[in-house]
Amino acid sequence: MEKSIGTIQTKLPGTGTSIFATMSQMAAENHAVNLSQGFPDFPVSEELIDRVYHYMKAGMNQYAPMQGVETLRQAISKMFADKYGVTYNADTEINITAGATQALFTAISAFIKEGDEAIIFEPAYDCYAPAITLSGGQVKYSKLQFPDFSINWDELLRMINHRTRLIIINSPQNPTGSVLGREDMERLEKLTHNTDIIILSDEVYEHLIFDGMKHQSSCLFPELAQRTLVIGSFGKTFHATGWKTGFVLAPEKLMAEFRKVHQFVVFTSNTPVQYAIADFIGNKENYLHLGAFYQKKRDLFSKGLENSRFKILPTHGTYFQLLDYSGISDKSEMDFARWLVEEHKIAAIPVAPFYQNHDENKVLRFCFAKKEETLRKATKILSDI
Ligand code: PMP
Ligand code: GLN
Repeated sequence: MEKSIGTIQTKLPGTGTSIFATMSQMAAENHAVNLSQGFPDFPVSEELIDRVYHYMKAGMNQYAPMQGVETLRQAISKMFADKYGVTYNADTEINITAGATQALFTAISAFIKEGDEAIIFEPAYDCYAPAITLSGGQVKYSKLQFPDFSINWDELLRMINHRTRLIIINSPQNPTGSVLGREDMERLEKLTHNTDIIILSDEVYEHLIFDGMKHQSSCLFPELAQRTLVIGSFGKTFHATGWKTGFVLAPEKLMAEFRKVHQFVVFTSNTPVQYAIADFIGNKENYLHLGAFYQKKRDLFSKGLENSRFKILPTHGTYFQLLDYSGISDKSEMDFARWLVEEHKIAAIPVAPFYQNHDENKVLRFCFAKKEETLRKATKILSDI
């Protein structure tokens, strides 16, 4: 069977297994409380599960249309009209995807070609850079400013040139929990005025925003919206990360290009789940209170750490909390995370892997999308360190 196929030239040198998979595996091996990979440990709504079952029994088990089932596209259009007062055409401007990851990969493939530059902000969610590289693009990194992780606008201005094809923004931001304000969005709108730059706006945590802040979706800024693909994820929104169902909103011209690629990447995604979510988001009550729901969890987690030696960095959205451990140890983030999971049976995510040069700020990311019982267990362990 052993037969040489010659040299394999990797298209992604230096890329290993994702830090999420690595830490979740370490958590399992060490029987640790897992606050590493971002997924809830509480159940999905019974009503939503019943709707999926209903549509499976009703025979909705074959391919959905390439752009996604019509009822879901219409329900998303209505959700955006209600929430943001902006209308996307369900036929020509909305597409359902197999999660946000596929939406991002497809959008990047659709618009990036050899020699193009794409700007991302680091620490950056892990799937952006590889997708840009695979399309022959060059990734340009703009560092968010520690410790509030705000955009360095002067630097961004200097980075933009005639090769800049794409800027990827993410608010609320993973892994930092920072959010972009109205002025940020207006600056971006101004900065990209009269350019060919496309914006990919990763808004998977759009509902998970705290302290009365308002999510500044790119769709709210008319000129910006004309050059933007907004990406969402029902996995994040409805505590069902394993369902891998997301969506893209974009003006018709951009959507036409997105669909050219989408049809060959995945063609379409899970049919009964799409029908079920369409029914579920028909009731606003199912998404309007998610911010408050997660804020309670954030507050429980941070209150439980009041007397610990960790320093709590502010988080305004997502379901992640950064903790500064510089008062406890000089270890690198990876070594400290390994020590926590092996010695104290609690798993978190080092933030260094979200930087191209593995910058060390001595912070770890903890996921608080967990049952109260899990959060109490976690804060007890962390407070005893
Ligand atoms: N973008 C960000 C910022 C994320 O945190 C995630 C997943 N947590 C995704 C995209 C991918 O979402 P999905 O699971 O729907 O592919
Ligand atoms: N988005 C999730 C997180 O940030 C993980 C997704 C994944 O494992 N790729 O933890």
